[in-house]
Amino acid sequence: MYKSLIAAADLCDRMGVEIPTDILLDMYLYDVVKTQAHYERVLSQAVRELYNGKSSEDDFLSTMTTLLDEQTRRAWNEGMRLNDLDPAKDMTEAFEAELRNIQDEEFSHVDGFIAAIVQAGKDGTPVDPLLTRAGLWASRYPDIVSRAQVFTAPKDLNFRWIYGDTIQHCDTCSKLEGIVATAADWADLQARGIYPQSPNLDCSGFNCDCHLDSTDDDVTPGGIPSV
Ligand SMILES: [Zn+2]
Ligand SMILES: [Zn+2]
Repeated sequence: MYKSLIAAADLCDRMGVEIPTDILLDMYLYDVVKTQAHYERVLSQAVRELYNGKSSEDDFLSTMTTLLDEQTRRAWNEGMRLNDLDPAKDMTEAFEAELRNIQDEEFSHVDGFIAAIVQAGKDGTPVDPLLTRAGLWASRYPDIVSRAQVFTAPKDLNFRWIYGDTIQHCDTCSKLEGIVATAADWADLQARGIYPQSPNLDCSGFNCDCHLDSTDDDVTPGGIPSV
């Protein structure tokens, strides 16, 4: 059945028929589709509807809340599985608390986002920058996976900060590149807001493609440099 639902959605796309946001959201929640692209599509459509006055701020908030809840938990679970943990069995109170921190952080930007959409709709300024923001939201997924992996790893497992494909690296990323430290140390840094793609990096995380990889190598003498 899922296949035919996806085919139906594709057909609507090709014919330029808009699928209602609540149905798109249900498709996401019921596992019909679970991709970053789909997440972005639901969010973009919700942005357009609020912008055009076709939906209310409350509608938008409820769509966004459902999406963020689902997306952050799914990313978190994926991070746990990278440590061979089963999210259904191995979730601890500390893990739940950290996931809630991540969720709170994501939610803290929602009010500002809603205000910006409503204002742009009133002023008639272009919707494109808001759709770009929706895209950025969807692209947080891998960074949450990584944070969960580091947080739920055995504390003495080592991780190395590795540059991604970014051409120009910022000061923070340059200082951390190649550094090997324990999961515990990286988790401490994470608690201070520094991790790959973090908005607190010098590059603000835009285009940062760095990641942390587990390694058997020894920790870098001197530990993580201050950033
Ligand atoms: Zn950077
Ligand atoms: Zn980077």
